[in-house]
Amino acid sequence: MPYTIDADTAGFFEAAREGHLVVRSCSDCGANLHPPRQYCRHCGGWNTRWRKLTGRATLVTWTIVEQQMLPTFEVPYTVVLVEPDDAPGVRFVGSLPGRVESLQAGMAMAVTFETVGDGVVLPQWSPTE
Ligand SMILES: [Zn+2]
Repeated sequence: MPYTIDADTAGFFEAAREGHLVVRSCSDCGANLHPPRQYCRHCGGWNTRWRKLTGRATLVTWTIVEQQMLPTFEVPYTVVLVEPDDAPGVRFVGSLPGRVESLQAGMAMAVTFETVGDGVVLPQWSPTE
């Protein structure tokens, strides 16, 4: 399970539990901070906040995992890396069950929310086409 009660990241998982995708953004310089941080490494400010995203994204790349590394994730599964349409430069990682053969870089993806255990909700990504 991911560590979901850290001061920097708790808000990300709280939003996911409520069905929202968020990114930490700096109110001073506009930078997106993901993985989330309360401190902005771009301008040195602490004036950061959670910003709701639409949940639409573009597939950057993916890989198929065939070897069992973590007992939680049954193989095979497909790991996807997406860039949200409304937070350029941010990358979110997700996974889809099985070998997804129909993926193409640049295709449209949409967020879904998966409860993985202990009430932890993860944003996941699926093709919209
Ligand atoms: Zn900043």
